[in-house]
Amino acid sequence: MLITVLGYYGGYPYKGHGTSGYLLQDEGQNILIDCGSGVLNELSNYIDPLQLDAVVLSHYHHDHTADLGVLQYNWQLDPQNRKHEVLPIYGHTQDFVNFAQLTMDGVSQGIAYNDYETSEIGPFKFEFLRTIHPVPAYAMKITKDDKSIVYTSDTAYFDGLIDFAKGSDLLITDTNFAEDKTGKIWHMTTKQSGKLAKDAGVKRLMISHLPQKIDVDTMLKQSQNYAGNVPTINAFTGLEVEV
Ligand SMILES: [Zn+2]
Ligand SMILES: [Zn+2]
Repeated sequence: MLITVLGYYGGYPYKGHGTSGYLLQDEGQNILIDCGSGVLNELSNYIDPLQLDAVVLSHYHHDHTADLGVLQYNWQLDPQNRKHEVLPIYGHTQDFVNFAQLTMDGVSQGIAYNDYETSEIGPFKFEFLRTIHPVPAYAMKITKDDKSIVYTSDTAYFDGLIDFAKGSDLLITDTNFAEDKTGKIWHMTTKQSGKLAKDAGVKRLMISHLPQKIDVDTMLKQSQNYAGNVPTINAFTGLEVEV
């Protein structure tokens, strides 16, 4: 599996870099995971967006869905060159208003996922876990052959993430705060991300959903410190990781 970072900021885009979006590829399949602000533009540097096989959304906050409407227009305006008749867009149904937006007549089709059964999307197996966030959001575990990627989506830290991420080859975490952040938070700190990677025994950690106003080297250094022996990298636009 090849995963390419298309956007990595939490909340809003900044200085030419977008919010959450990851392109997952293998066996000629192109799956877009989250579709944040700036993601469609960046995606077109790698593939024609009409060549997508599916989109999978972790939740309906704008920094994960901002470019979905324009992606649907992209498919609507160029029907001749689409890879599929309609674009499958996977989302949860805990929010019916937003789920309904995934379907656009003759262009895209919303498909429900849930946390009690596996979704087969192309050659990939997707499993979902409800996270702790102000709106319903789902972490996802993507498996192909004997390799797995876990993406926490947006979440406050909770112990259930350890089991879910256990032994994965790559863990991508929502790391929006430095280690000294206190009080009620809806994302993880560098300390929590690093410790999660270590406790789950993952092979690699990628910190993402990064803050705009904290130096990335500081975020990385802190995360690596708590991750112990787990090699840690920070997400950046165009980063490609082979799993
Ligand atoms: Zn977010
Ligand atoms: Zn969110």
